[in-house]
Amino acid sequence: MKFDLFLEQCDLAEYHWKESLPDFGFSYLRETFPEAKKLMKDMYQREIDEARESLKLADERERFIDDLIFRKASKENEEELRMILTAVYVTPLRSEKERLIKRNAFYIASLNGVAPKGGITDEQIARAKEYPISDMVAFKKNIACCIFHKEKTPSLHYYYRENRCYCFSCQKACDAIDVAMEIYGLDFIHAVKKLSR
Ligand SMILES: [Zn+2]
Repeated sequence: MKFDLFLEQCDLAEYHWKESLPDFGFSYLRETFPEAKKLMKDMYQREIDEARESLKLADERERFIDDLIFRKASKENEEELRMILTAVYVTPLRSEKERLIKRNAFYIASLNGVAPKGGITDEQIARAKEYPISDMVAFKKNIACCIFHKEKTPSLHYYYRENRCYCFSCQKACDAIDVAMEIYGLDFIHAVKKLSR
């Protein structure tokens, strides 16, 4: 299927296609629609720019914490206060955004045809894709609650022969690598390494 046609068939009201892509797995999009590369690169770059802005917010929060401690803390509780505030307001934000930047940089490099770093081979990627998704997600009659969004009624369908999933609620399509990235919080390289062992 051509990417344009694919976009037309998706729900236009829900997504702004001119600016973004549907929430499909990276490898799925890349392989199914080679002509979408430019759009994908732009999207990943935009996400990186946004994440860099958020990292500035993390710096700002850190300065604020310093300031707060300077004004409020006694010598005894200074370190403890710093630790708590940093753990709540800085570390989660920073690690989430840094992970996103790293992941997207990898995606862009991969779209540019740069060989993935970390020493993984195409053979390993192929093997990782064959890792049964049903070993990572508990399906009942090939249906489970989606791992990409919160839900009570299961809408994630498992296609055993293709070893792929599709969520009829959030419309995410994914392969074993996408699943491993999501449930283990891994980047592409580490997900491939884990599944191809
Ligand atoms: Zn879903």
